[in-house]
This record gives sequence, structure tokens and C-alpha cells, in this order.
Amino acid sequence: MSHKKHHSTTPLSQLLRLPPGKVRLAEHDTSATPGFPGKGKADAAKFTAAILPELSDLQERLYASSQADPENAPKVLIVLQGMDTAGKGGVIRHSIGLVDPQGVQIRAFKVPTAEERAHHFLWRIRKALPTPGMIGIFDRSHYEDVLVVRVDGLFPESEWSRRYAEINEFEAELAANGTHLIKCMLNVSYGAQHDRLAARLDDPTKHWKFSIDDLDSRAKWPAYAEAYEAALTLCNSETAPWHIVPADHKWYRNWAVAELLREKLESLQLGWPPASYDISEQKRRLAELS
Ligand code: AMP
Ligand code: MG
Repeated sequence: MSHKKHHSTTPLSQLLRLPPGKVRLAEHDTSATPGFPGKGKADAAKFTAAILPELSDLQERLYASSQADPENAPKVLIVLQGMDTAGKGGVIRHSIGLVDPQGVQIRAFKVPTAEERAHHFLWRIRKALPTPGMIGIFDRSHYEDVLVVRVDGLFPESEWSRRYAEINEFEAELAANGTHLIKCMLNVSYGAQHDRLAARLDDPTKHWKFSIDDLDSRAKWPAYAEAYEAALTLCNSETAPWHIVPADHKWYRNWAVAELLREKLESLQLGWPPASYDISEQKRRLAELS
């Protein structure tokens, strides 16, 4: 079977694309599986594996383009946001893990350090942007500066309310500089989060994953939902659109992010850079050295 048959007919980026306008998270089904070409969990591994050869080829083309033209090669940046347990780490392990690690730059954004706090909120983000030919992964991002910051009142409203426009300007600048954004909101339900947190408490091999902060955030679920809705509504431009990835089924979520990446890389229509040397001359030299 050709790999083409493993793709959905309508591009997944279109199916998961958040339409412009006021966002209501409750209207997005967290257990849906749009565009999945198989039947369900049983064949998810097969369909995810089927993306691999093309993903590898495309990633290599991206990397090769930076060897040929270090200044102007494109960059790809996957922004992963979602409530705790939505699966940012799982996506990095299972979807991004399919790609050659040499071509990937992963950055997780934690509570800002004293140094980071002393700078503009985009300072640490700019430093972490992918270099030409690379795929950058943000595990959390500049969106935390309008999510946890808004929910916990870490800055006054007069400060965080300005940030939506600053984020839009920043992302437009990235697009203009050849950074192709894939913004993914991993959308998990309140119920699924409960089950995942319960699983972490029940299983000694998962105790390390549990954080008491997760329950503090869970207690503020409505405030987080509201903050997400504001960020998704206000920062959803044509050049930097959001994708809402239903995340109650881990197998779907992992397949979907891999497929979004494949589609984005394919859309770049990258060729192979031509040799910068005389091929027949090099063949002659090699023959002399045989
Ligand atoms: P985790 O991703 O589970 O390791 O947790 C990272 C923590 O850092 C989360 O609780 C985030 O809310 C927090 N965090 C990330 N960025 C910021 C920020 N800009 N301001 C405050 N807290 C943040
Ligand atoms: Mg956490």
C-alpha cells in the first residue's frame, strides 16, 4: 500500500484548524478523531508508523536545505499547549520521537528564572527559536504569559492584556522570517484529566509524574478554560493559526501531531540541494584513490 493511502483526504491541518472568531472550548469534542484513516486504537500504531518514511525524508530535506543555504533555510516550530496531562510530553516522545533527533530542538518552558523574569516575556522565547533547517518544539511557550500569568494574577491585567497584540506581532515576525508555526492546543477533558492524575497516584512508576501543583491548577479549571479561550480567540491569525487537537485519546493525539508535521513539511516543497562541486571531477578523484 502506498503511504498516500494513510493520509486523510482533507488535510488534517484544515480539519483541526480553529476557525476565526470567539472560541468556546465546550464546543470542541475532546474525544473526536477527525481525519484518522483507520478504525481506532487497534490500528493507530500502524498508521502512525506509516507516516515515518515520508516524515524522515522531508525532515532530511529541511536539514539539507540549511546546509546549502544556512541563512535562508526555513524553520518549523511546533508550539504545544494544553492543560496538565494533555500530553505534551507524550507527543514529544511518540510523534516528534519519529524524527531524527539531530534535526530537532526541544525547549520546555518552566516557571521563569530570576534572570528571565527581569526581561520582557519574549526574551527567553526568542533565544529558544529553531535555527535554519531545524524543527523546534516548544513544550509550553509564550502563551503561558497569558495563561498561568492571567489565572494566577502574576502580572496586573494592564500588563497581560497588552500581550495578545505583542504575541500576534511576534508571530507575524516569525512567519516573515521563514519560521513556519504549527500551534497545537492539546484539548483534554476535565474527566480524562481526572483519570490520568488518578493513574499517576495509583502507579508507583508514575508517582514522579504527579505534581501537587497539578491539583491546584485543576481546581482553577474554569479560569484556565477562560484564559485559553481568550488566547485562542485573540491570537489565531492566518499566518499563525491554532489547531485544536482532541487529546482524550492518546493514540489519536500522537498520530495527529505527527501528521500535522508531515503536512507542514510537505507544504514547503523542499527539493534536494544541488551539489556545490563538480560531480565528475570528484568521481575521477575518488577513482584515483581506490
Ligand atoms: P511542567 O510543564 O509540568 O514541567 O510545569 C511547568 C510549570 O511552569 C507550569 O506550572 C507552568 O504553568 C509554569 N510556567 C511556565 N511558563 C510560565 C510563565 N511564563 N510564568 C509562570 N509560570 C510559568
Ligand atoms: Mg506538570
